[in-house]
Amino acid sequence: MDNTRHDEYVQRCNDSILGTYKRFPAVLTHGRGSYVYDVNNKQYLDFASGIAVTSLGHAHPEITATIEAQAKKMLHCSSLYYNIPQIELAEKLVSLSGPGKIFFCNSGAEANESLIKLARSYGQKVGRYHIITMNKSFHGRTMAGISATGQDKIKNGFQPLLEGFTHVPFNDLKAIENACTEKTVAVMIEGIQGEGGIIPAEAAYLTGLRKFCTDNNILLLIDAVQCGFFRSGSFQSYQEILSGESASTVNNANFNSSDFIPDGIAMAKSLGGGVPIGASWIRDTFTDYLPAGSHGSTYGGNPLVCAVASKIIEIIERDKLQDAIRESGTYLQRSLAALSGPFPEIISGARGLGLLQGAVLKELKRPAQYESLTPAAYLCLKALEEGLLLVPAGETVIRFLPQFQVTRNEIDEGIRIFEKVLNIVSEELRD
Ligand SMILES: *Cc1c(COP(=O)(O)O)cnc(C)c1O
Repeated sequence: MDNTRHDEYVQRCNDSILGTYKRFPAVLTHGRGSYVYDVNNKQYLDFASGIAVTSLGHAHPEITATIEAQAKKMLHCSSLYYNIPQIELAEKLVSLSGPGKIFFCNSGAEANESLIKLARSYGQKVGRYHIITMNKSFHGRTMAGISATGQDKIKNGFQPLLEGFTHVPFNDLKAIENACTEKTVAVMIEGIQGEGGIIPAEAAYLTGLRKFCTDNNILLLIDAVQCGFFRSGSFQSYQEILSGESASTVNNANFNSSDFIPDGIAMAKSLGGGVPIGASWIRDTFTDYLPAGSHGSTYGGNPLVCAVASKIIEIIERDKLQDAIRESGTYLQRSLAALSGPFPEIISGARGLGLLQGAVLKELKRPAQYESLTPAAYLCLKALEEGLLLVPAGETVIRFLPQFQVTRNEIDEGIRIFEKVLNIVSEELRD
């Protein structure tokens, strides 16, 4: 294949764009549904979805029509004024989340930032500002985001960080109790750790944490940027976790999953399906802690992105995609887990909820030319070569994040390609 145009774009990218990203070698130009195409018109099955963003795939006709219609009316007016798409989306997000209000911004990091500012404001009068977050968590790349993130590789080189963050092991209530001091004002967790390797919170952990936070007057904040917005099957992953089989492990037999309400939820990624939008939901009890003038965002909640997000919710509800997400997710997880049979030296299992699934890898050796890559990145690169887009999560987990309308045939195709990759890699390991 003539790779001249590809090579030229890579060169121009390297010459003009800051090298903050390690990129996979594909120059993507367009997509349709679950597929994307590169500058050589090579087709890829997209199970990366722009890292859990393109929730309804690419070039969805209704999304395209919504964007076109809104662009003809107004793209932006700032929150100096009222705009109707913003109001309508906020009402919808409140109805899905619980009594409270919405703050709009443009990204996941900013959504978390608003929750961190909420916690600061809430604790201000009594001098409480410490926030407990989890080891292996990921909360974004702003200074507050990397301070909250429980991974050294994200923080290193940027000290001094924002004061007051403590990290403890995930799914360990005792660790939170032990880390809590008179200065603690909030606990922040992901419902399912994404970058940390697709690790869902346990039901008993969630309910125990809710009780602990209430008893100690501490805010319970959920970073749902990756695991939220229906990707788990439910609107929020904690709803899915607490309503599923795992709910039987909840200590209190009379527990009703609607009893679990966090104090703040950060959303982004799938919410916009590809247009940049972030939002946080803040529980009614705490909305006064971010009053007029305390926080803001120029683009936040602009009519274009809000119209798109509302349309996505409308489609999800109309087409009953929550059931489809659960069914596709279960099927995908079973298919991935089954690969540990023929490839025990590479795959140790699969985990996740809905269409946030991870294939868990063994610490496999890589051929010399790939040694600088993690095992997950090595397999993702091989998958890309075979026409399948996947995303590493940490060093030894590979994320499968299909769009919500993925078909059974597309999942089968993805598994077939991944199996081929595992065969290729097995060969390379043997050499
Ligand atoms: C992606 C992500 C973020 C950061 O979102 P950005 O839109 O990149 O700022 C924060 N938290 C979690 C859990 C994420 O997965």
